[in-house]
Amino acid sequence: EAVSAPNFIRNQISEELQQGREGKIVTRFPPEPNGFLHIGHAKSICLNFGLAEQFGGDCHLRFDDTNPAKEEQQYIDAIKEDIQWLGYEWAGDIRYASDYFDQLHAWAVELIKAGKAYVCELNPEQMREYRGTLTEAGRPSPYRERTVEENLDQFERMRQGEFPDGAKVLRAKIDMAAPNINLRDPILYRIRHVHHHQTGDKWCLYPSYDFTHGQSDAIEGVTHSVCTLEFEDHRPLYEWFLNNLPVPAKPRQIEFARLNLNYTVTSKRKLKLLVDQGIVEGWDDPRMPTLAGMRRRGYTPASIRNFCDMIGVTRANGVVDIAMLYSAIRRDLEENAVRAMCVLKPIKIVLTNWDEGRVEGLRAPGHPARDDFRERELPFTRELWIDADDFMEEPPKKFFRLAPGQEVRLRNAYVIKCEEVIKDDQGELVELRCTVDHDTLGKNPEGRKVKGVIHWVSAEHAVPVEVRLYDNLFLEEAPDADKDKDFLEHLNPESLQVVQGYGEPALAEAHPEAHYQFERVGYFCADRHLSDTERLVFNRTVGLKDSWAK
Ligand code: ATP
Ligand code: MG
Ligand code: MG
Repeated sequence: EAVSAPNFIRNQISEELQQGREGKIVTRFPPEPNGFLHIGHAKSICLNFGLAEQFGGDCHLRFDDTNPAKEEQQYIDAIKEDIQWLGYEWAGDIRYASDYFDQLHAWAVELIKAGKAYVCELNPEQMREYRGTLTEAGRPSPYRERTVEENLDQFERMRQGEFPDGAKVLRAKIDMAAPNINLRDPILYRIRHVHHHQTGDKWCLYPSYDFTHGQSDAIEGVTHSVCTLEFEDHRPLYEWFLNNLPVPAKPRQIEFARLNLNYTVTSKRKLKLLVDQGIVEGWDDPRMPTLAGMRRRGYTPASIRNFCDMIGVTRANGVVDIAMLYSAIRRDLEENAVRAMCVLKPIKIVLTNWDEGRVEGLRAPGHPARDDFRERELPFTRELWIDADDFMEEPPKKFFRLAPGQEVRLRNAYVIKCEEVIKDDQGELVELRCTVDHDTLGKNPEGRKVKGVIHWVSAEHAVPVEVRLYDNLFLEEAPDADKDKDFLEHLNPESLQVVQGYGEPALAEAHPEAHYQFERVGYFCADRHLSDTERLVFNRTVGLKDSWAK
């Protein structure tokens, strides 16, 4: 297995170990089950699981499930499947932040008893107003000086379900004048009368992310709690809770820059909108930057892990060129995908000097550089399909493919010459009559040079295939950069084009998720849901040409 590139977090842990740090490294990946995982999450997964791998530690999978209204079991199932597909294994059982609701509640009661939390009845708007701004200190809530007894009573009645959603919250009593707004009496509990996918109807109040995350880390013995830079400002609060509660361990929060990819949105909320509005066919539509979508598109786990290695881990926010992702999958498939010929825009060739019914079994390597791939059998017959783009009736200079009176080599086969163009009454091309030079199999023709090589399949033996040509979902590099404009305005209307083509006979056996290089065309993958022996469906993973400058 490839050793991952160094990064500042790896270096930091190495240094700690050199300085005598003892005990196991424990990290965690903490998704909220409110959508499918996307390529941004892959960066976090590779980092967290990668650290555990490198240092012989554990990485936990913990569902951050404090917001049950938006969470669903289907997302939990998909997230588990995606992590395993990427090739990672979480240590021990799956964990849920909701496993700790009893403990968190008990700690909230302790904060109240210590005079460090109170029940507040300001509405959200008032609360915002009282909280102040970056340049202006906040003001204390009128409920801030409630007695411990009153707070305990109020909090218990909140728990008993006496109050409607939003009527009251529990807040920490920290510092309304703190320069860091997160310390201005943050919310610990909200009333939400909603069923929870794990705890059922046990609770009608739920802890906030901030009150949950660090303590969950502490309960699990997480040593390095790695998160994205937006949480840097929350770190003082993360530490405040750890310092003011009898937690069993003191995890450390370390922030890194989130992944942003051009031509892509990586926000579950926006991705959910694409799904809910039917703009894509589901969370795993091959145009989606979700791991499930990328898998269907033909990305391999190795390519995604390599991509995450290539982009590295830093504290500098930036935008990664999607060409890098394309480059990563191309490199994998160049090495590992079986070769095949497939004609996407078929036009018929009739070889007038090849006997009807004669079938010659030509052979071609499964991969040009690998002898562990099976040879392919390519029947050669009088009637063939070639791609319409490989023929021009009035070609410009330097068009080295097929044209009237012009020769071209059929890949892995003979040189042919176009003698006649047959059209119907409407002037539509029906077929090309060609002759074959029988003396050109595996050797150059006598006395002349044929530059062009095109792909083909036998019309008699070809298998019909449905090919889905995918392109970026957005036309703009930064589809969601403009706050005043709806990101949906930047959708690419041609992100999916479906064509019916013909593939070489071996494609009939393509098992779901099999990867191919269609020679001269691109990399394709048999759709894992739609493709079977009755109906072959291939998704274009990526084109052949690499525009990523290394
Ligand atoms: P989204 O904004 O898409 O909902 P999120 O951060 O709310 O993302 P979570 O399910 O909470 O989604 O994310 C789980 C983990 O993945 C978090 O630790 C988060 O920091 C990390 N993560 C999410 N998006 C990215 C990203 N674009 N790059 C790197 N890490 C990410
Ligand atoms: Mg989150
Ligand atoms: Mg989110």
